[in-house]
Amino acid sequence: MTSHNLPDLDTLVSEASTDFSSRVLTWFDQHGRKHLPWQQGVTPYRVWISEIMLQQTQVATVIPYFERFMEHYPDVAQLAAAPQDAVLHLWTGLGYYARARNLHKCAQQVVEEHGGQFPSSIEALEALPGIGRSTAGAIASLSMGQTAAILDGNVKRVLARHFAIEGWPGKSTTLKQLWQCAESLTPSKRCAHYTQAMMDLGAMVCTRSKPKCGECPLSDSCAAYHQGNPLDYPGKKPKKDKPVKTVQLLMLRNGAGEWLLEQRPATGIWGGLWSFPEIDSDTDVERHWHTQYQQTLVVQERWDSFRHTFSHYHLDISPVVADLTSEVSEVGERANYWYDVHQPAALGLAAPVKQLLKTLQQLQPVAG
Ligand code: SF4
Repeated sequence: MTSHNLPDLDTLVSEASTDFSSRVLTWFDQHGRKHLPWQQGVTPYRVWISEIMLQQTQVATVIPYFERFMEHYPDVAQLAAAPQDAVLHLWTGLGYYARARNLHKCAQQVVEEHGGQFPSSIEALEALPGIGRSTAGAIASLSMGQTAAILDGNVKRVLARHFAIEGWPGKSTTLKQLWQCAESLTPSKRCAHYTQAMMDLGAMVCTRSKPKCGECPLSDSCAAYHQGNPLDYPGKKPKKDKPVKTVQLLMLRNGAGEWLLEQRPATGIWGGLWSFPEIDSDTDVERHWHTQYQQTLVVQERWDSFRHTFSHYHLDISPVVADLTSEVSEVGERANYWYDVHQPAALGLAAPVKQLLKTLQQLQPVAG
């Protein structure tokens, strides 16, 4: 949609706004979610943690993570004081680890710069690490009683369909139109319920692949429904084939039956997490190790390779099991940890590494 469509959208939104929110709120009273863990004992801290976890992740997956997180870190001061590794450990399996690192940084900033209280203005919230405009709106409306709009993935879908807004929401013109709708439609009364209702409507009714238009309180005025093409909205991201990278992960065992883990650098994939050493796919592992570290290892097995997909590329991983024949405790260049699969340490692990360790645990008998 080009900018000359903006006035049309304006008219549409202002015509819709009076009863749009009241229909959404009536639906919420009957069908909305009111018993999620972060809706109990609401605080900016709890809402913030839930919002960050819910980015890219379904509610059902988030609930146990949220509860575990609250048991360990019931408030922002305790999170700020925690070691980063312990925070990453609790995040293991949720993916997108930059979220967890930012979460930790943000907690420290709230403690150091705001005396342990989340600031109340949208601008100050947005200035914190990992908090974007929509998350700031959610914190302000859900936990501070303010009138503030949100625009997460669910809300984008509902609005794009209802107003037939074309284009991929990652494009700035499309995003601007969606924000314009979100801002104009957000009511000053019951804003917290409206915010929750829009998220619920997107997650429960106006779903990505099978919208239940027959159950939707907005169907009367929904443009996509009347056009018969809800699935055309929001517009898709222009496709690019993801490149494929290949790598060997070296599962190196010492004489005590422990496995070598290295801590990855703070930035880049799996930043700060623990992983098996990574070796180029076309490199001879034994020779490489000997040349690099003057230590001898013997390759015992090569497992079938498997694929792990990141947002920008596929990583094909070939696991290699090897025994270290030299008696050494320090290996390689990075921080080391010798991991006992029968007494797992609380470390932040990259998801495929966690999976491989689980397989090793099943294969490796407990020493008698
Ligand atoms: S009518 Fe259908 S497409 Fe339109 S908002 Fe409701 S569920 Fe989504």
